[in-house]
Amino acid sequence: MALWNFFRKSKDEDENQEQKPEAIPADSPAEATSEINDNIENFMALDEKQNNAASNQVPDQEPEQKKGFFQRLKEQLTKTKDGFINKLKQTIRLHGKVDEELLDELEEIMIQSDIGPETAMRMIDHLRNNPEARGDGNGNGLIELLKEEMLKVLGREDHPLSFDGPRPYVVLVVGVNGTGKTTTIGKLAQRLHQDGKKVTLVAADTFRAAAVEQLEIWAKHTGSTIIKQETGADPGAVCFDGLKSSSSDGTEIVLIDTAGRLHTKTNLMEELKKIERVIKKVIPEAPHETLLVLDATTGQNAISQAKIFSEAVPVTGLVMTKLDGTAKGGILIALADKYKIPIRMIGIGESAEDYRDFSPVDFVDALFEEEANGAS
Ligand code: GDP
Ligand code: GDP
Ligand code: MG
Repeated sequence: MALWNFFRKSKDEDENQEQKPEAIPADSPAEATSEINDNIENFMALDEKQNNAASNQVPDQEPEQKKGFFQRLKEQLTKTKDGFINKLKQTIRLHGKVDEELLDELEEIMIQSDIGPETAMRMIDHLRNNPEARGDGNGNGLIELLKEEMLKVLGREDHPLSFDGPRPYVVLVVGVNGTGKTTTIGKLAQRLHQDGKKVTLVAADTFRAAAVEQLEIWAKHTGSTIIKQETGADPGAVCFDGLKSSSSDGTEIVLIDTAGRLHTKTNLMEELKKIERVIKKVIPEAPHETLLVLDATTGQNAISQAKIFSEAVPVTGLVMTKLDGTAKGGILIALADKYKIPIRMIGIGESAEDYRDFSPVDFVDALFEEEANGAS
């Protein structure tokens, strides 16, 4: 069996593939940037395992799979569950009765979890004015109401990326360096590849050679076309080339990776505006989606980033990554409240199912669900 059929991998071949993840050919630029590549390899190896597991599954095992999916979400959100939600629960339990003192304490925990003072205050006000909040006097009703309040802010509806629309469908991905832009693109390319879509990746992060190489590896792994130029090239020019060729080669979806060097904030914003202008020169109604990637572990910083980026370009969707790495997952609620921009995806770790469409109901359920052993 060929393990080296690297460039034309089909789903059938996946099924026969042994556990060994695909190797990077020795002449790949990978070697120059081993740290980044270790990360991608990590993602890839885990993906491979999970794809194999998934393809062995028969249809009547689907509920199992769904349960596994939710279980994984719960596990990956453990930090926020422990550091935020379980704190709320314990405080309510210990206090025993619903009064001003308790409400103040809850508000404090919410603010510590990055929900943001205004949002926290409004949520607590709702509880204060809700006769049901007192419940049977011991606060049991309060937990359910808190959950409801969170869902009110997040909204119950999912807003996944659809990629439906004109071809090529252009997705511009922006955000500060290290937030997870390239990973988001890689994961999307992977998903689209599995759906049989023809994808082009545009390497408009021309600042570091490593950035282009990282995207190249994803392109190889996902059978996507990559459009790139030399390091230091004008990102606008790369986009121009990328969209020109995508418009004539049957590409269905274009994913554009950009740079996000924060120390040149003004330049960065001008660069993004220029990218946007150049894109429109080729396809006037593009980009069809502008995704802003935010890192949950940066806390309130993510809020300022949302402000700065959405002033520069019309952001149509958010991706919140690294929710596995923070106890302050309340940031997602603050963000949903402050910016009425749909949260399309979340990142909760480094395996295949850890980059997923955001479901507010699953998210809140995962945080609030009691553990079977009674500890919470
Ligand atoms: P970019 O600079 O915005 O393109 O960010 P990258 O996509 O290169 O990601 C930066 C780092 O964050 C990489 O090491 C990724 O493996 C890691 N990363 C991305 N998303 C997640 C996530 O959801 N959870 C965790 N734990 N790590 C992530
Ligand atoms: P402005 O910055 O808004 O004035 O936009 P320009 O028309 O100067 O274009 C900005 C960038 O887009 C240029 O620096 C080029 O890199 C790229 N670009 C624009 N038009 C073309 C074109 O016809 N061919 C190529 N190859 N690149 C173009
Ligand atoms: Mg990158």
